[in-house]
Amino acid sequence: VPLMERPHFVLVPQMAQGHTIPMIDMAYILAGHGAVVTFVTTPRNAARLESIIQHARDSQLPIKFLPLPFKGTEVGLPEGCESVDSLPLGLKQLSTFVEASLQLQDPLISYLRENGPPPNCVISDMTHPWTGAVAREFGVPRLSFIGFSAFSSLVRHLINIHKVYDNVVDDFEPVPIPGFPHPLELPKTRSTLSFYASGERIFNMVKEEESKNIGVIVNTFQDLEPMYIKSYENTIDKKVWPIGPMCIFNKDMKPVASRGEKASIDVDRCLRWLDSMPNRSVIYVSFGSLVRSMPLQLIEIGLGLEASKKPFIWVIKAGERMSEIEQWLLEENFEERVKDRGLIIRGWAPQVLILSHNAIGGFMTHCGWNSTIEGICTGVPMLTWPHFAEQFLNEVLVVDILKIGLRIGVMSSVTWGSEKSDEVKVKRNEVEKKVLELLSEEKEGLERRLKASELGKMAKMAMEKGGSSYNNIEFLIHEIQERMQGNKDKVQT
Ligand code: UDP
Repeated sequence: VPLMERPHFVLVPQMAQGHTIPMIDMAYILAGHGAVVTFVTTPRNAARLESIIQHARDSQLPIKFLPLPFKGTEVGLPEGCESVDSLPLGLKQLSTFVEASLQLQDPLISYLRENGPPPNCVISDMTHPWTGAVAREFGVPRLSFIGFSAFSSLVRHLINIHKVYDNVVDDFEPVPIPGFPHPLELPKTRSTLSFYASGERIFNMVKEEESKNIGVIVNTFQDLEPMYIKSYENTIDKKVWPIGPMCIFNKDMKPVASRGEKASIDVDRCLRWLDSMPNRSVIYVSFGSLVRSMPLQLIEIGLGLEASKKPFIWVIKAGERMSEIEQWLLEENFEERVKDRGLIIRGWAPQVLILSHNAIGGFMTHCGWNSTIEGICTGVPMLTWPHFAEQFLNEVLVVDILKIGLRIGVMSSVTWGSEKSDEVKVKRNEVEKKVLELLSEEKEGLERRLKASELGKMAKMAMEKGGSSYNNIEFLIHEIQERMQGNKDKVQT
């Protein structure tokens, strides 16, 4: 089909790695199913995504990365600061960012007017309510992408519509979530990031645009959480499209080396290291793109990993206090001490590639949804250590519902948000104990492993030809094509 006649999707992610990465996957998926994609980003983010953009170019798929600059800094963004994860984040800054990105609306409309083909559908991160105006400008539908599981999306929605925490004084008191398909109680501190928190104006804009959407795309798959997908669909009274796990996006279902940033380690070296380890023996420790762990907590993790005597890959992101960690590593001669079985990655890890390797036996994770679904689709049991936002809900899903994980910690000394405490939340002997428990060959360990591996197989099946997510992608494209046809008919009559 000539490019001009293919459905054209405009994708607008939130400018943070955890939101951008799955939307890049989505771009690949849609292009792989015959669509044309324009992926909106900003110059700074485009520079950071260079390796993935190059990959898209090499694969010759019709994906155009469009870097739109912000007009200036008059809305309060620090100069040169275009991306959520480069801000010293707290909720206030998040709302500043959401406000600032309203400025992308006019440049995007002008670009799309001047450069064909016109869009047929806008898929937007929920946090960009302004994309509703872009869709209306071209008379096309908008779908939103939340980047949560269906479980967390449902909880978030119910908390918002029932104003669950409005009259609750104690933030730690478990409160029932009304309308949930089974009894569920959550304290405010363990619930989800509500857009209430980012100010009423933004919250109302987001809510208003969500009500005009034709549906919601979710990075999950039917067999993982059927009850929550159905209940979410009924509650919002809109079509929910589970089209994931989107990290398995290319046709030979093999992960690419770099998703998001360029890996800070030579990928071949990393794979050779994994090749040298026994199957299912290695624990992979990483807390996503935003969490910056504090030095004392990192030291406890390191000592616990050493004491477990299990092989490990440990991704360290300590931000501005990295030098303190480096000093400790040096003084303790830590890397030399663990050299036979420990690999440290400072910065960006090729995560999906690592998780996909047979040597990986467990994943210590902060439970960001991308990391969680990546752990699920690679069949790896998890040690859960949520830090903020809906990560606490993902933990509930992994540990209590799917039964493929064990809790290790809650929060930590991180700089995300306002917390800057140097307190140690999980001591070294607890790290050691939980690592051994997760990797154990005892009955419970084996059951968890088996369950995780079954879910991994189901995830892959969902993305294969004829699988539920594969079919949903086809249906979605078909629906947009029908609307294109409808529009054409309207023009002709
Ligand atoms: N990621 C990665 N290497 C890293 C850190 C993160 O590839 O060193 C990827 C990870 O695979 C996931 C995303 O970045 O796709 C992080 O998203 P998630 O939702 O897990 O957490 P967030 O970073 O939003 O807290």
